[in-house]
Amino acid sequence: MKFPVELILLALVPVFLLFVAGELWFLRRRGNLYDLRDSLCSAGLGLLHQGADKLAWLLVLPLYGWIYQQHRLFSFPDSALSFFLLFLGQDFLYYWFHRVSHRVRWLWAAHSVHHSSTRMNFTTAFRQSLMYPLAGMWAFWLPLAWLGFPPQQVVAVVLLNLAFQFFVHTQAVPKLGWLEYVFNTPSIHRSHHARNPRYIDHNYAGVLVVWDRLFGTFVEELDSEPCDYGTVKPVNSFNPLWVSVVEWRDMLLEAWRAENWRDRLIALFGAPEAAERVASKQRRVPPAKGVSA
Ligand SMILES: [Zn+2]
Ligand SMILES: [Zn+2]
Repeated sequence: MKFPVELILLALVPVFLLFVAGELWFLRRRGNLYDLRDSLCSAGLGLLHQGADKLAWLLVLPLYGWIYQQHRLFSFPDSALSFFLLFLGQDFLYYWFHRVSHRVRWLWAAHSVHHSSTRMNFTTAFRQSLMYPLAGMWAFWLPLAWLGFPPQQVVAVVLLNLAFQFFVHTQAVPKLGWLEYVFNTPSIHRSHHARNPRYIDHNYAGVLVVWDRLFGTFVEELDSEPCDYGTVKPVNSFNPLWVSVVEWRDMLLEAWRAENWRDRLIALFGAPEAAERVASKQRRVPPAKGVSA
């Protein structure tokens, strides 16, 4: 029987847990690294995401299949070179998916979950959003089926990219020399998770960091500026269900309360900081009657 590719990440859980144990032991003298409630919340989010993801693949695979069967541009032979091209194409699209996820509120509502922990350790990698299918993550990989890559291979490469990214969520590994120029590394991804003005909205790489270097979004982690992990707007909760939906609730409420259509569109699809300006306008208490401004 063929291995169902949608289960790649679940199959790798024992490896992931082994690395968590190794990190705990290796950094046992470092305080403030792990918090049990935080890690359990991340694990809960990971499981919820896996459930939603399986459902999403069930729904979107027929669409990928139809595009691949009826409208593909090329037919690639079953070869290592084809798989390498698929990996390259998907990693490029991942860069843009990730960049858009930070710059468009609709996708940030889902992706902010991944950034909601104030810790940085291997369990942070489990922190994924249940809402990605609604945000439209699947649409970013459609061009791969259209180009002519079989849907099952597309799923496999999407999940292998995520599996690789597990290993960059750690403070146990220093900078890695020349690898920093080619791959997304722990140092590069640590700065991605930091909210310091120097680091925020940089390093969107999945596997290859060349896209960041090419498109001007690379930033280097500096010893002089330690990473401050988390989001600008903290979630302050360890309940995985709440963490999954809180930004969607805020977004929809702010869009509903918007005074005009321009603000409504900004609340839904603007940059997160522009959406925050709309929200802060709504929070402003109107002056009481008879009191001059
Ligand atoms: Zn991110
Ligand atoms: Zn991450």
